[in-house]
Amino acid sequence: MAKSLTVKVLDKGFVRLVDVMGDDRRIAQAARVSYGGGTKTVREDAALIDYLMRHRHTSPFEMVEFTFHVKAPIFVTRQWFRHRTASVNEISARYSVLKDEFYEPGPAELRAQSSTNKQVGEGSLPEDAAREAAAQIGEVYREVYATYEKLLELGVARELARSVLPVGIYTEFYWKQDLHNLLHFLKLRLDHHAQEEIRAYARAVAGFVQKQVPLVWRSFEEHVLEAVTLSAGERDAAAELLDRQEFAEKLRQAGLSKSRVREALEKVFGR
Ligand SMILES: Cc1cc2nc3c(=O)[nH]c(=O)nc-3n(C[C@H](O)[C@H](O)[C@H](O)COP(=O)(O)OP(=O)(O)OC[C@H]3O[C@@H](n4cnc5c(N)ncnc54)[C@H](O)[C@@H]3O)c2cc1C
Repeated sequence: MAKSLTVKVLDKGFVRLVDVMGDDRRIAQAARVSYGGGTKTVREDAALIDYLMRHRHTSPFEMVEFTFHVKAPIFVTRQWFRHRTASVNEISARYSVLKDEFYEPGPAELRAQSSTNKQVGEGSLPEDAAREAAAQIGEVYREVYATYEKLLELGVARELARSVLPVGIYTEFYWKQDLHNLLHFLKLRLDHHAQEEIRAYARAVAGFVQKQVPLVWRSFEEHVLEAVTLSAGERDAAAELLDRQEFAEKLRQAGLSKSRVREALEKVFGR
């Protein structure tokens, strides 16, 4: 396994880049088919990619594809596999005996249940509780794996014996995804609302994407990842408070091109 293409995640998992098809240029070339244009400079490619990202002209981004080999706990893959547009192939626990590998968070990684949001964990547990919880997790994993082995020894089929295994056990899969849908995955799974464990995998995937398509990444950060959507009411309130000329001047000072200033003014004040 090429080390530089593998990023360790959690205690025993990883994300490994298996293959990539295409780069920033491929996207620009595909987009130019629409207009019959030929090869251009990197600067022109950057401007075109930025335009495509801003205007949600998404199909050129589908021309780039990534394949990853991932090792993750089943509770992470359940969230991951909700992204339906990828091609996936996972290890078969009917065919193979699953390894004795479980996600074992240390006391410091055990988040407390949030008191304000039913879906999330936040903050840490008192030291004693964290130590005891970590020990309990390890204990139950060992017991359950011993039962799994016992069932196999008794001749129970692998496809049934696995039913005693918990969602903390590691699984492996290949994941092939085009860049457009991969960016959608990253927008959702890098977000602070997503569970920390899948965010850790999303960060590893993002590192590979950033290296492979740096121009796309820059525009994705600007227009999608770090961007927010205002509701109509929020936009109207902002428009009432802002002075159109001053706002335009601020945008020019921030280095935005003429067309981007025009687009921003349209967003806030309408046509
Ligand atoms: C923070 C967070 C919390 C979540 N909590 C829950 C939860 O409690 N319970 C739960 O069940 N799920 C939950 N989910 C999963 C979530 O509802 C989505 O299923 C998941 O994020 C995949 O999103 P998607 O459908 O946009 O992506 P993909 O499946 O990758 O699809 C990409 C896009 O393709 C289109 N598309 C794909 N398939 C179809 C289709 N069949 N019909 C129409 N359009 C399609 C849609 O435009 C979609 O946005 C949660 C997700 C997040 C990020």
